[in-house]
Parts: sequence; structure tokens; C-alpha cells
Amino acid sequence: MSQRLQIGLLFAFPVLLLAGLYALGASIPVPVLGRDYVLRVALADGAETIGLPEIEGPDDASRPLVLIDPGHGGPDLGATSEDYMEKTIVLGLARALRDALLEEGGVRVAMTRDEDRFIVLEERAEIARELGADLFLSIHADSAGDLEGVAGATIYTLSETASSEAAARFAERENDADIINGIDLSGQDEAVNAILVELSQRRTSERSVEFAELIEREGEGTLVFHPQARRSAALAVLRAPDVPGVLFESGFVTNPEDAQRLASEEGQQRFAEVMARAIRVYFARQLAET
Ligand SMILES: [Zn+2]
Repeated sequence: MSQRLQIGLLFAFPVLLLAGLYALGASIPVPVLGRDYVLRVALADGAETIGLPEIEGPDDASRPLVLIDPGHGGPDLGATSEDYMEKTIVLGLARALRDALLEEGGVRVAMTRDEDRFIVLEERAEIARELGADLFLSIHADSAGDLEGVAGATIYTLSETASSEAAARFAERENDADIINGIDLSGQDEAVNAILVELSQRRTSERSVEFAELIEREGEGTLVFHPQARRSAALAVLRAPDVPGVLFESGFVTNPEDAQRLASEEGQQRFAEVMARAIRVYFARQLAET
């Protein structure tokens, strides 16, 4: 089965399930449409086609699992400047965060890539679902072209209606990573019944926003944020309807200070401490809610 068809079926299944339950009406005592209900659908043979990364940390499935996703990789360099490449910077940040989380313990950690290789966007979201990740963090670094002065981190959450024109342009740029050698690798959206998937996505999106707020709060005074630090955009990598997540643009490779800091051990350490704290507070809150 082609991967695209598999993913299509994956999205179609909850739709059919919900449609079936809906058709049977209120006699079924399942809180299908309840606020706290998040769809979890397992795809049995998906692991073989995707090649799931190793889960590190405690050998205890009840511990929360965070999937760290360093953007781009391989032939997809991401944003570049004279001296820096996004794909390298974000891998350094991701590794630092993984190490910080593992050092403190209690949290399970996996990375979509721990090497310089290409992964399509949908696959990244799919890995999160296959692993049953509780939280997804995609790490990127931005480019402002010739505008060297533009700097600072931005936290993106998913929005179907991109919150601003800039966000839409951004989404276009990041989503372009799926077009390699002229072949469009993305797009089974047409096959998705957006309305029903949205039921699950709503709760997921609330949690994502909560996580984004925590990153901002924990990072205040330590990380350098863009003046508009919170945005939402229609980002393909955040489209797993049942895994809360954010895309963290760590800064601008086109800004010399940003790039230097993010590529340095000290900058990576600072990022890792803030992010690890935000992740821990997030999980502590989820635990208190249930
Ligand atoms: Zn990127």
C-alpha cells in the first residue's frame, strides 16, 4: 500500500467511526463529542513503512513521550545564510533539548531525525501519531532575506485560517519542503473530512496553545523573542489531529547574533533549559487535569 493511501485511510478511519456513531445516535454512552475526547487511532502496519525512531528515557509507557522534530535535513537545507544552515542549527538545538530532558528523567524522548537526513512533513506528523507521542515540538530557524535586523524566536500553533498574511506566506515556505525535484509529496487533505477531524483537533489545539504559552512564559528574560512571538499558520507538520504540538522558530539564521547564539553550545543550553521546563510544566498540568 502506498504511504499516501495509508495516511489517507488513517484519516478516513476516525471520520467513518464518528460518522457511524453519529448515525447510531444518542443511545451510545460514549462521549464522542465531549470536550476532552481526543481521537487516538492506531495503524497496525504503519511502523514498517515509516521506520520509527528509538524512544529514549524510562522504560515505562505510562511516562509522557515528547517527540522532538528538527526541521529539514539532507538535501533540504532550510533557511541559509553565508555561514549557517537551518538544518544544522535545529539539529543542535534538538539534541541539547533531548539531553536536558533525559538528564532530569521522568520523560520519554524521541527525535524524528538524529542525523542529517530528509523526512517529508507528513511523515513527521505521522511518526508522532505512530509513537503515540503526547507532545510534538518541531524546531526551525527562519530567514528574513536581506533584513539582517529581523531577529528573535516565534512560536507557531496550527491555524486553518492563517492568522495573518505573513503567517500564510510562512506556511507556504515551510510546506514547500514537501516538494522535492518537482514532485509534490504532500496533500491528502482533499481526502480528509475536515469537519469531523476538527472535533479531535479542537482539544488538541487547545493543548497546543497552552504549551505555546508556557514556552513564552518560561523563556521570558532568557530567550530572545520576536516582537510578535506568537502566531498561528496552516503548517502541515502540525496537522496530526491528536498530538498537541507547536513549531518553534528559534530565531533567524540571517541575523548574525541569532545565528551565532543558536549555533553555540551556550545558546543551545539556554534553549534546552527553557524548553525542558516548559515541557515539564505542560505535562504536570495535563496530569493534574486527568
Ligand atoms: Zn524551517
